[in-house]
Amino acid sequence: MLYFVDGKFTKQDELCISIDDRGYYFGDGVYEVIKVYGGELFTAEEHFNRLFQSALKIKMTIPYSEQQLMDVARQLIDQNGIEDGHIYMQVTRGAAPRQHHFPTPAVPAVVTAYSVNGERPLSNMEKGVAIKSVADIRWLRCDIKSLNLLGSVLAKEEAREAGCTEAILHRDGLVTEGASTNMFGVKNGVVYTHPVTNLILEGITRQVVLGLCQELNIPVQEQAFTLAEAYAMDEFFYTSTTAEVMPVTEIDGRQVGDGKRGSLTEKLQQAFTERIAKKTVKNTI
Ligand SMILES: *Cc1c(COP(=O)(O)O)cnc(C)c1O
Repeated sequence: MLYFVDGKFTKQDELCISIDDRGYYFGDGVYEVIKVYGGELFTAEEHFNRLFQSALKIKMTIPYSEQQLMDVARQLIDQNGIEDGHIYMQVTRGAAPRQHHFPTPAVPAVVTAYSVNGERPLSNMEKGVAIKSVADIRWLRCDIKSLNLLGSVLAKEEAREAGCTEAILHRDGLVTEGASTNMFGVKNGVVYTHPVTNLILEGITRQVVLGLCQELNIPVQEQAFTLAEAYAMDEFFYTSTTAEVMPVTEIDGRQVGDGKRGSLTEKLQQAFTERIAKKTVKNTI
């Protein structure tokens, strides 16, 4: 497996990252996970756009163009022979002696990327999963896909210890999102999800699913709902690059709807799968 570290492709046992990297000290950086289907990147432009937006929001300059980073991702796919899986890419504010404020003089941001082989979670996508509510103790800039993930790490661990795949985060009872996913409920044929604010990360999968709802004439309300309302939804699901459209059949031990994958959820999964087939076209360099 080849890794991309600071401008070079290297093998794992040869790669070298500074102990002074600000990602290591402060989580001072941003990242993306981009899905690969059949050897092709999915919604790559959206992901690279968001990477640059996240960098801008933390006042960090990425020393590459979107096209160059896209090329890095494509090379990782080709060199490592990835058919289905994903690309992980992160950018940190560089390596400098440990001081909280930005390095002076400025140092170049460090880009790291690698590829991972992985199948789609087809079994869970059919069966559905259980999730657990956890208080959302994260900061107030959840719109940035930042490397600072302690709030999500603790929430995900709490969920895992309860035998759940994901944490459903809430601020004073209002559901925001998952630890690494966006949450959706369906009630009387209407899809509900938290609006795009500083309290959630605007998922690319969320965007794709909302687009599919529009195409399928499924009404959507981008409106926050409470945990109690979540329990009472007819259907529930969460989305992310790797989870795709994941049906939730249990929240805090309570059965959602009839305890099986919902029919509208299944319809969106089918539409999503069709979208994958249509949109994973070769990106020209
Ligand atoms: C990445 C992430 C998501 C999902 O975004 P996708 O672009 O769909 O993968 C949702 N919430 C958080 C907190 C995330 O970090």
